[in-house]
Amino acid sequence: MPKAFVVGHPIKHSRSPLIHGYWLKQHGLDGSYERIDVAPTDFAAFLKSFAGQGFAGGNVTIPHKEAAFAGVERRTANAERSKAVNTLWVEDGVLWGDNTDILGFMAHLDQSLGQGWEQDVETVLIIGAGGAARAIVAGLQDRAFARILIANRTFEKAEELVHDLQTGTGPVLQALPWGELETALPKAGLIVNTTSLGMIGQPPLTLDLSLAPKNAAVADIVYVPLKTPLLAQAEKRGLRTVDGLGMLLHQAVPGFAHWFGVTPQVTAELRDLIVADIEGT
Ligand code: NAP
Repeated sequence: MPKAFVVGHPIKHSRSPLIHGYWLKQHGLDGSYERIDVAPTDFAAFLKSFAGQGFAGGNVTIPHKEAAFAGVERRTANAERSKAVNTLWVEDGVLWGDNTDILGFMAHLDQSLGQGWEQDVETVLIIGAGGAARAIVAGLQDRAFARILIANRTFEKAEELVHDLQTGTGPVLQALPWGELETALPKAGLIVNTTSLGMIGQPPLTLDLSLAPKNAAVADIVYVPLKTPLLAQAEKRGLRTVDGLGMLLHQAVPGFAHWFGVTPQVTAELRDLIVADIEGT
């Protein structure tokens, strides 16, 4: 019976067991997927020992994504680009790491806005420069934008992100001081919140979206609540919106395929299941 896990610290609020549990049942598979709480000091040992405990692999969440990157034996190109690992599996005795947040964000963005949505977009504005921002910038770099601006409260982290991810080709990456965030809005065709602002228990992200172009799209990767104050404001102004739940669902697909041998689908029924759980919190 294949077993998989999500490892983090803390981990009890993770919705990943609901997602993978749904797919296991849907495909009639006799596998399991469980939460494992591992403190940072024990994470390196956990990486070495999980296969011996019968696990085929698992997901990695806060605060272990960088440690997982450092601890795996082989990495996919997406893991290398973002310097973070959120999906682990063992193949021919070798511990592999991937970053499926990249695919998860891009798949949901394309699905929500429709293929070809990026044709009229020259400037993308990313708010935040943490681990999730790195994955999102890496995904957006493959598209033909002129520039990607990264505004972060701690300016040095935005500069570091630009330094680490800038390549000779593709969109120009540019760090933006937090105080200049709104000056970038009039030219931003896509605005993405990757900070935890707007999450339940956190202050909202205060941004005057009346400054943004009328055809701009606004994405928020926070998914509790599903409609963040930023998305509510965007919707009120008639801007296109992309919520954070789709990214969570799509990033789960490759891991399931590795551990259980079936590529699952992100269905409306699965989404409804997680929405109901979020609304019950
Ligand atoms: P992280 O690495 O800890 O980064 C947090 C980011 O939020 C940093 O840019 C940080 O700025 C900023 N921030 C935090 N508090 C702030 C405040 N009061 N004012 C301004 N900026 C603030 O975390 P992460 O892994 O990137 O995750 C960020 C958010 O995305 C979390 O809410 C997480 O749940 C969500 N997420 C969603 C998905 C999904 O599938 N939808 C996937 C991954 C993450 P500083 O650098 O200045 O501290």
